[in-house]
Amino acid sequence: MAATNVSLKLFIDKRRQQVLYAEADKKFVDFLLSFFTLPVGAVTRLLLDGGSVGGCLPSLYQSIKNLSVAYIRPDKSKLFLLEPKVVMPGAELPLLLPNIGSTFRQLYRCPNVTGTCLSFVAIDDSTICPSCNSKMERNVKCVDPPSVIRAASSSEEGYVIGMVKYMVMDDLEVMALSSATLVSLLTKSNVKEIGDLEEKVVDVGMDEGVKLLKASFQSKTVLTDVFLPAEIIKTVDSIKNDMIIHPKTASL
Ligand SMILES: [Zn+2]
Repeated sequence: MAATNVSLKLFIDKRRQQVLYAEADKKFVDFLLSFFTLPVGAVTRLLLDGGSVGGCLPSLYQSIKNLSVAYIRPDKSKLFLLEPKVVMPGAELPLLLPNIGSTFRQLYRCPNVTGTCLSFVAIDDSTICPSCNSKMERNVKCVDPPSVIRAASSSEEGYVIGMVKYMVMDDLEVMALSSATLVSLLTKSNVKEIGDLEEKVVDVGMDEGVKLLKASFQSKTVLTDVFLPAEIIKTVDSIKNDMIIHPKTASL
């Protein structure tokens, strides 16, 4: 699993106490994009670990977990559903999520290279060859088609290129950072001067990784929810409430 030294530079709208955008490098963007490669079983397990989640997936997950293996076909394992492996496009992708089994499109075969054995490969090195009953633990390399091989010659892992900075919005919209997009964002958000923004660098580890994944299912203000301490937001809310309540009490 890749290292977890991923950081993010938040630009906070001080007036609203909300993240306007974050400046991110390739690692964080690759992490966000890796959400789309996660099997639903892996996501459900992470969300269950993190507390209560809505919808029916938790009860479906729990019911498979509780179902006796007597009802599962002998050639299948419940782990394929409950702990599915993620297929990674690169070995160094920062998957900031705990206990996610990953495979770099890794395949295995048995030690025999003749006869029927040649037609079997496995995705798990504990598999037994159906032909010779040996353990299928020899690595087999998965080869990309020519266009992908050419693109991969840069030796970069993950999904996006690393030479540029990216902008990640509070609702996780991702775009390349440019002065034009920045100016249009500031105008749209009514931020008059750069002094209205507070800069804050945050580290993103496993804990934040799970929070980001969970919040992305439930919120449109993910970065604010995960990285801005709740007390600050509460204080701002209570100030707002005070402002609403005062005129009413005054009129009584
Ligand atoms: Zn074999």
